[in-house]
Amino acid sequence: MKTIGLLGGMSWESTVTYYRMINEGIKARLGGLHSAKLCLYSVDFDEIEKLQHIGDWDSTAEILSHAASGLEIAGADFLIICTNTMHKVAPQIEQSINIPLLHIADATAEKVISEGIESVGLLGTKFTMEQEFYKGRLETRYGLKVHIPDRADREIVHDIIYNELCLGKIEEGSRDQYLRIIGKLATEGAEAVILGCTEIALLVDQDQTPVPLFDTTRLHAESAVDLALEMR
Ligand code: GLU
Repeated sequence: MKTIGLLGGMSWESTVTYYRMINEGIKARLGGLHSAKLCLYSVDFDEIEKLQHIGDWDSTAEILSHAASGLEIAGADFLIICTNTMHKVAPQIEQSINIPLLHIADATAEKVISEGIESVGLLGTKFTMEQEFYKGRLETRYGLKVHIPDRADREIVHDIIYNELCLGKIEEGSRDQYLRIIGKLATEGAEAVILGCTEIALLVDQDQTPVPLFDTTRLHAESAVDLALEMR
């Protein structure tokens, strides 16, 4: 079994989910007392979030590259970054290490495409919904048609992530907003919706909507298990 390097803490609320899902995945495959071999480097999210919101992505790249090198030194065979948004600086992080990066958008898009879906809604931070590094990757590498909410709804989705979900707050009213926005994306032509932020599945799950959901946290964790067991 390979050792997985987890670059987490963004936020720790979803890193907990990764840790659990990866261990459950290894146990389901190997049985008994088997558990995942992994190293975790968890950053202080307050520092990262402040830099994101002033647009200082170079400093975030420096912090995360340093953390990624630490994971390589600790024995990780490959790296996963436990957030969609910070894949914005994935190219800089990749340059600072000699182990492969398993990109969250690739893990997600491969699954979406394998189900024959061509048109998806995308929810996440404004960075993820609006920028080339994520939305563009789904469109250009995978040929997906990507629908995002209108500006006002993007604000709602973004604010709920930072002001509630990353703080572990789960509010009924926010769930209603997300379900409304998911429904709207479906009426605009999305066949399914990507939960493109690693905390969204803490708020919304498949039982609450007829629109098929693709949870990036789960898909990323499952791909990491496959790669650790050399089944990818
Ligand atoms: N975990 C979130 C994501 O998947 C948001 C936190 C962050 O800005 O990294 O994008």
